Amino acid sequence: MISVAIDGPAGAGKSTIARAAAKELGFLYADTGALYRAVACYMMSRVDPADASAVVPLLDEVSVELKFAEGEQRVFLNGEDVSDRIRTPEVSVHASEVSQIPQVRQFLFSLQQDLAKTNSIVMDGRDIGTVVLPHAAVKIFLTADPEVRARRRFRELTEKGLEVTFEEVLADVVKRDDADMHRAVSPLRQAADAVRVDTTDCSLEESIARVIRVIREKQG
Ligand code: C5P
Repeated sequence: MISVAIDGPAGAGKSTIARAAAKELGFLYADTGALYRAVACYMMSRVDPADASAVVPLLDEVSVELKFAEGEQRVFLNGEDVSDRIRTPEVSVHASEVSQIPQVRQFLFSLQQDLAKTNSIVMDGRDIGTVVLPHAAVKIFLTADPEVRARRRFRELTEKGLEVTFEEVLADVVKRDDADMHRAVSPLRQAADAVRVDTTDCSLEESIARVIRVIREKQG
C-alpha cells in the first residue's frame, strides 16, 4: 500500500488536486476535512461546537463513516449521507472549532489510519503527513496566498449557489488558518520531509501536473 499525504491551509486546492492525482495514480482519494465537518454537523444543532465539555460526551452518540462509490467519497453521519450538507461556510467554522478538541481528533484517528492500511491512497487534511500517516511515502504541503485561496473558495461557493461575499470568505479563510496553525494538538504545519508546492501563480491544471510530478519523482 502506498500513501500520499497532502496537507495545507483552507482553499489551497487540496481536494481538487488530490482527487485528480488519485485518479491519475489509480489510488483512493480521502478528504479528511469531511470527517471534522460531519462531527461539526452533529454538534452544531445540539451544543456549542467550541465547548469541549459539551462536545466530548456527545461523541458516544456519533458514528462517522466514509464510503466510496466509483472513487467518489461519501461521508455518513449516523447512517445518513451528509456529503452535501457539510459544505456550508457555517459548517466550515464549526469544523475548525471541533477539530481543536483532542478527543475529537482521537475519535477520527483510527478511521483515517485504517483506510491507509487497506488502500493505496491520497489523503488530504491538515495533519496527515505529521500525525496520521507519518510514514507516508510522499508528503506534499500545498499552499497559496490567502487572497488567492479566498478567491478560489468564493468562486466554488457561489457556483454552488451559496450567498456569500468575498470579504466573508477571506475573513473565514484567515480565521481558520490561524486557528488550525495555532491549536495545541496536531496544528497545521509542514512536515520536515514534505515537498512544498505553492500554487499562488499556477492554474489548476499546472498545480495538478506539479503534484503528480512530485509524486512520481518520489516513487522513483
Ligand atoms: O479541509 P476542510 O476545509 O474541509 O476542513 C475543515 C476543517 O477541519 C479545517 O478548517 C480544520 O480545522 C479541520 N481539519 C483538521 N484536520 C484535518 C482535516 C481538517 O483539523 N486532517
